[in-house]
Parts: sequence; structure tokens; C-alpha cells
Amino acid sequence: MNKYALLTCIFIMILVVNVISQTNEQKLERFDGKLKKIADEWYLNTGEDFFKLELAPEDFLKDKEIVLESKMDFSCTGILDGEEIIIYNISISDEVIEIREEEGKPLWDTKPDKDIYIVDADKCIGCRLCVKPCPTNAIRMVEGIAVIDMNKCIACGICIEGDGKRYKGCPVDAIFIKK
Ligand code: SF4
Ligand code: SF4
Repeated sequence: MNKYALLTCIFIMILVVNVISQTNEQKLERFDGKLKKIADEWYLNTGEDFFKLELAPEDFLKDKEIVLESKMDFSCTGILDGEEIIIYNISISDEVIEIREEEGKPLWDTKPDKDIYIVDADKCIGCRLCVKPCPTNAIRMVEGIAVIDMNKCIACGICIEGDGKRYKGCPVDAIFIKK
């Protein structure tokens, strides 16, 4: 390989590495719009796009006196991940409230003191069998899929194991414990 061919190769390699690192780099962006709540999830309507928001747990928001309401004007800084915005901070009446550190580490306690029960929406067949046996009414159906409200769930395990009576647990193993 002559000198020019070698230099061209090196130049192309540098270009490719740059393009890859730019693609992988996640940028903090500012988003403004109106809030919308669907089931237990918050969404942001910017007028042009519709994003799901990954906020902090309700307890953390309450401690910071953050009360969210549908149609509320909402500004946040975050990283767009697919169609979800991972929130770093939010602005309420010009006051900026940090939710994550600069490196993206959440400021709330990420180790819950109870197991997190989740329904795999791809597996759930919407049979509703798990709804009634739940002792705290934590399970409800949203658009044909069972959804567990973590604020109500007491991690008793009935939805997975069964209640020892007629309910033998989810027939398609759609409910699991988040590790
Ligand atoms: S029992 Fe399983 S499949 Fe039936 S609604 Fe509950 S999670 Fe879905
Ligand atoms: S673990 Fe218990 S409280 Fe939580 S959703 Fe399942 S049945 Fe309901």
C-alpha cells in the first residue's frame, strides 16, 4: 500500500469512529409542552411530538412538593431514548428541580424495600384472572393489559403464585418480579 492510500485509509477510519461516537452520544435536551397522564404514566405533548416521560417515583416528587396535573405546562431537561424522555430536571415556575445527577444517576433511592411486580405486556392475554385475587386492588386492566400500581402493591406474590383457592397464578406467566 502506498503512502497516499495509507493516509486515505487512516482518514476514513477517523471519520467512521467520529460518526459512530456522535451517534452513540446522548445529548441532554430541553423539552417543553403540555403534560398528559395515561394510566399511571406521564406523557409530554410538545405540539409536534408525543413522548413518554421517565420521572422519579411519586414519593420523591411529593417530597419535593412536585404536583403534576394533566394539561399543565411542563419544561424539562432530559435525554431522548427512543420515544421516552429520561428526565434529568424539571422546571416548575422557573424553579429547576434536579431529578438526576449530571452523569444520569437518579437522586432517588433506586433500591426499593419491596419487590417490584410487573406485567409483561407482550405476554398478557388480558384474561383478567389476576385482578380480583389481588388483596389491595393494585391490578387493573388498561387497554386489555393488566397493569400493576406499585403504590398499592404490597408484594404479596399472589398474582404470581396464586391465592391457594381458585386462582392458580397467571396462566401465561406474564407477571414477574423486576430484578
Ligand atoms: S392473569 Fe396474566 S394474562 Fe391474565 S390478565 Fe393477569 S397478567 Fe394478564
Ligand atoms: S404482588 Fe400482591 S399486591 Fe402486588 S399486584 Fe400481585 S397480588 Fe397485588
